[in-house]
Amino acid sequence: MQVLRHTTAALAIGFAAILACMLGSIFIGFQHLDQTRDAWQRDALFREKVRASFLMREAIRERSFHLAFAATLDDFFDRDEQRETYNAKAVNFLLARDALVELRMTSPEKAAMDTLIERIVQLRPTIDNAMSLVVEGGDEQEALKQMRIALNGQSGVIEELNAFIDVVEAESAREAKAATRAISSTQRNMLILSGCAVALAAIIGLMVTIREARNLRRLRLHRDELAQLSTTDALTCIANRRRFDEFMDMEWARAIRSGNTLSLVLLDIDHFKNFNDAYGHAAGDNCLAAVSKAMCGVIVRSTDLLARYGGEEFACILPETTREHAHTIAEKLREAVTMVNIPHAHSSAAGHVTISVGVGSITPKPGDEMAALFEQTDGNLYSAKEQGRNRVVS
Ligand code: GH3
Ligand code: MG
Ligand code: MG
Repeated sequence: MQVLRHTTAALAIGFAAILACMLGSIFIGFQHLDQTRDAWQRDALFREKVRASFLMREAIRERSFHLAFAATLDDFFDRDEQRETYNAKAVNFLLARDALVELRMTSPEKAAMDTLIERIVQLRPTIDNAMSLVVEGGDEQEALKQMRIALNGQSGVIEELNAFIDVVEAESAREAKAATRAISSTQRNMLILSGCAVALAAIIGLMVTIREARNLRRLRLHRDELAQLSTTDALTCIANRRRFDEFMDMEWARAIRSGNTLSLVLLDIDHFKNFNDAYGHAAGDNCLAAVSKAMCGVIVRSTDLLARYGGEEFACILPETTREHAHTIAEKLREAVTMVNIPHAHSSAAGHVTISVGVGSITPKPGDEMAALFEQTDGNLYSAKEQGRNRVVS
């Protein structure tokens, strides 16, 4: 019972642990999904940042071309037209810049972005000034000088942009590395939890199987014990009347089938009432046990059955046994009881406990009544009593 309670507790704990592992796995699974989604979003963000940076760089390069064209002071280029195109390209630049500013930035990216914007703001008056000098005419040398400064500034902005792209790439690589590490750790945790759940399930399965096998063994044992008890006489430990009846039915049918002779022996202790009266009921019980033990020593053939028929009467079924052979066995039984030599001062047969024995034999045919064998055997037992007891009549 104690063991059963312990096993049940262990099973309950095991199931709870499996449940915890499974819930943990589900939680980690969601975590894994979040991490994967974050990774996709980060990747998309990175591409948007790089794209906006490229667009800005492209716009600056184009503006630089138009600055340079305007500065050739060549009649081939219309300077006003160059300035207009130059100004128009600013729209592309500003759109790309606004898109970039809107995006989520890391601290290093923000710092690089601030430097870039600062550089652009600083450069603007210089470029506007250079463009005005070039377009409106005047001191040509001064105009060229200002233009060179403006173009150098533009190159500086492009370098800052490249530096910004490098920072974006470095940040993206760093974040991707951290994300990969986090995803690997999540996958490992998931694997550990799933492994634990599987191992626990296997252990529980084993425990249940062992417990079931043990219970089955106990049940079989109890069933066998019960079967044994239900067919055994408690006092003499030999077959009881129920077993005798079953055995008799079986052997009667078998004898009909095989055509063999079936013999029955009925044995009755002589003057047992006197014995009980003289020595007490407990002594009577001991006597019954001793008599049956002595007779057990005679009935050794596994196909024979010795049973307590009732009170101080015993019966013996001897399949495939002729009347003569049954008589011999009955005589041996009588002698065995005599040999126990239990004093009995109130018997007319002898100074010790004796039995009277009746033997009956039949080779039954289909339709024969079993009662005939009993009548015959009982009649012989009665004759044995009549003839003075302590004898066998067949
Ligand atoms: P007979 O020689 O004619 O067989 O005489 P008897 O006294 O043996 O026969 P009777 O039928 O008159 O008495 C049988 C006695 O057996 C009566 C009963 O008290 C006793 N007896 C039956 N079963 C038990 C038992 O389980 N224990 C004890 N101690 N006595 C029993
Ligand atoms: Mg009797
Ligand atoms: Mg008797």
